[in-house]
Amino acid sequence: MMPKGKILNMEDAFAQMEKLARSREQSPQQISRFQQSDESRQRGSSDPLTFGTTSPACVCSQSPTGIYMKSKGNRCEFAVCPACDPQVRCEECGGTGQLRRFNLLTLKDEIIAGACSCRTAQKRAELLNKIQLPQRYCSASFDTLQLDHLGKNSALIQKLTDCRERVLNFCENAAGYLSEQESAPEKIFLTLLGPVGTGKTLMGCAALKWFVEETGCTARFVDFLFLLSQLRETYTQNSSEEKILKPLREADVLLIDELGKGRAEKAWQMEKLDDLINSRYNEGRVTILTTNYLPPEATYDPVRAGFRSAPANESFWEQSLPERIGARMYDRIVESSVFVDFIGLPSFRRHNAEGFLQRHRAESAKES
Ligand SMILES: [Zn+2]
Ligand SMILES: [Zn+2]
Repeated sequence: MMPKGKILNMEDAFAQMEKLARSREQSPQQISRFQQSDESRQRGSSDPLTFGTTSPACVCSQSPTGIYMKSKGNRCEFAVCPACDPQVRCEECGGTGQLRRFNLLTLKDEIIAGACSCRTAQKRAELLNKIQLPQRYCSASFDTLQLDHLGKNSALIQKLTDCRERVLNFCENAAGYLSEQESAPEKIFLTLLGPVGTGKTLMGCAALKWFVEETGCTARFVDFLFLLSQLRETYTQNSSEEKILKPLREADVLLIDELGKGRAEKAWQMEKLDDLINSRYNEGRVTILTTNYLPPEATYDPVRAGFRSAPANESFWEQSLPERIGARMYDRIVESSVFVDFIGLPSFRRHNAEGFLQRHRAESAKES
């Protein structure tokens, strides 16, 4: 400001006024964020020389989609990085997400129906959240296959890589169908078989995310035991199970994890599940199932499955899938499924438990 008691000449006074006017014009609120240079965006720090305000820091590690994950209780949340959101820098819509056009007839600015294409990241993040992935599967991706637990065993590495290829192949076929560019594939169910911890659920979750990211469809994850307990709750509370089942029937892609798990299901619960599977089959909806139980003709070889001997208290060792879920549901699944078996792969959960915990702790520490 003008120093007190000092007489300025006219030239200095004008220079002061001009400076003041310029700083008002460039108040932070008036600078559209898409005008920021890439450099300042990446740096994410305040740059008083240029803006006099703090630009948001990148939290997505420059992800090409601009989407990142943050933990929220036992779930994770997907959000759009404030620094990399394509909407913020969109020159088409000026960051509003809406496109306008001057109507020559009404002589008014009008909003064009449908959002600007820069809104895709926001929509994708919302769809990813609607999957309701358990936190430990949020980072599942076809691009980051965990192979550490297989050591240098090339046969096992080949096996898991083949599983990934087959799952991805199913997804690509189904994606053409979901985007209405191709007719329905012969099999619209994908069933992943194998012992606990071999990567079935991880692969299934990678598929759910892939479908959302590639096609913008709706996807849902549901744990079999959790679903049974939810159904039981509606029964004891005398409320309708429709609230629970409707979104599962209608999701473009549904993953039912650990099919057949638990014991002593009531007949009516299995009937509801039977209806769900049937409805998805009849409506041609893409469905992914994972299960520890095998078809009756297959058996587990404990050694190949990574155990020294048959594990105690593991019912999947003694019972087959149709024994667990009933012949009717089983037949439907067999008829409509591409099967991918993870049998013979060791459990990465046991091998990696410590490594996983360490990574998880490090991530939690970083986030807090
Ligand atoms: Zn970012
Ligand atoms: Zn835009």
